[in-house]
Amino acid sequence: MDLAALLDRIADDVATDIGRGVVADYIPALARVEPGRFGMAVAEVDGAVHGVGDWERPFSVQSMSKVFTLALTLSRGDGVWARVGREPSGDPFNSLVQLEHEDGIPRNPFINAGALVVTDELARHGDAADALLAFLRQESGRQEITVDPEVAASEAGHADRNRALAYFMASYGNMRHPVPSVLDQYVRQCSIAMSCADVARSALFLARHGLRNDGSRLLGLSAAKRINAVMLTCGTYDAAGEFAYRVGLPGKSGVGGGILAIVPGRCAVCVWSPGLDARGNSVAGVAALDRFTTLTGWSIF
Ligand code: GLU
Repeated sequence: MDLAALLDRIADDVATDIGRGVVADYIPALARVEPGRFGMAVAEVDGAVHGVGDWERPFSVQSMSKVFTLALTLSRGDGVWARVGREPSGDPFNSLVQLEHEDGIPRNPFINAGALVVTDELARHGDAADALLAFLRQESGRQEITVDPEVAASEAGHADRNRALAYFMASYGNMRHPVPSVLDQYVRQCSIAMSCADVARSALFLARHGLRNDGSRLLGLSAAKRINAVMLTCGTYDAAGEFAYRVGLPGKSGVGGGILAIVPGRCAVCVWSPGLDARGNSVAGVAALDRFTTLTGWSIF
């Protein structure tokens, strides 16, 4: 398969989708991104990376970071599953509703409430955002990867909903650390800027059933399978059914317009285009991944 040529073709095929949708603006710094950007990178399990468009341009990873914090937490044991579920929520990513019905246990690790619990769990071993940065730099080979201070400040200034979620869970005894500290780590984790190439390279452990780029094991086979499974069922907000239908891969999107998808045994793919659909997923990103699995036949189904 000539992946470089394939990516060129996909970029042509989705040209009319690029710029469609709405750039997230509830975090003001995110609204400054140009909607016409598009990049896509594929990292193969042997380490080769191919890309098209803005594939080396850093953007705000936002909720794609939740895959990596979950992996780092599970690499230290699976205690987090006593504090967070693994069912699709059926509610928006920042909803408070379900938490009251289910005693402060979030439905899954990818909605904001669940990700706050994961960050809180990882923080038992030190600053969660620092641990995440160290991991991403190591896996991508790019020491320059860092938190975008402008996005972090903007997000911290508009965090009332996440603060409410965290305090609400604290009232049920589901926060180990003080809420301001967990929130600070969560905001920095979401505000990390990376390119499609960086994200795809850093996520290869999920395509390699738990093995990192240096050959060491981050996760057992079962934990890696479980993360892919939760990405498939819960990774694209309230549109995971539609994403599975169109793309057929484990995926995790972020409001910065990025989507990470995994082809187990083969590659990690990251696509970025900032215009979001009504459910919060990149319009051109979903279209590009749809073309990717159609043209390669590499869906998991
Ligand atoms: N930092 C964002 C928030 O907490 C992440 C949202 C997302 O990408 O889904 O609202």
